[in-house]
Amino acid sequence: MNRMVSYVKSLMLIELFQGLWLTTRYFFRPKYTVHYPEEKIPQSPRFRGLHALRRYPNGEERCIACKLCEAVCPALAITIDSAPREDGTRRTTAYEIDLFKCIFCGFCEESCPVDSIVLTHIHEYHFEERGENVVTKPQLLAIGDRLEPEIAERRRLDAPYR
Ligand code: SF4
Ligand code: SF4
Repeated sequence: MNRMVSYVKSLMLIELFQGLWLTTRYFFRPKYTVHYPEEKIPQSPRFRGLHALRRYPNGEERCIACKLCEAVCPALAITIDSAPREDGTRRTTAYEIDLFKCIFCGFCEESCPVDSIVLTHIHEYHFEERGENVVTKPQLLAIGDRLEPEIAERRRLDAPYR
């Protein structure tokens, strides 16, 4: 019986006309085109854009050079060098992310035990010179310093879902 119904439907092109009717309805509705970059759509607090390294409120770097983010990165985009400081703590001496390799999966952020490396809302950036695709530790810290209030707010909004 089902096969018969299906056969009759295909013979009468019912699904084709249903599709055309849907197209016709949307043809006369207001369009949803976003005129980027003048207009922008809302962004999720979980959006994964350009990376940043965060500090504690006292100015100390959060990163403890555990290298979990480097190990978990599926694109091998992160390179870390580290050394002990005079006070015995360990910190990175170099922290680089190759944005040409990065696939913005967010694994580095998820793996970090101290909420140091995060992905920000920034998705509009460009490079002008060869090599600028590798962002360095000072650059990442500067982004973190500039966006810390926003990063903290986004993490607060996302906290119930983590
Ligand atoms: S977002 Fe993913 S691919 Fe990019 S650096 Fe982090 S772990 Fe690697
Ligand atoms: S950013 Fe986080 S995960 Fe990566 S080395 Fe530093 S503390 Fe470890």
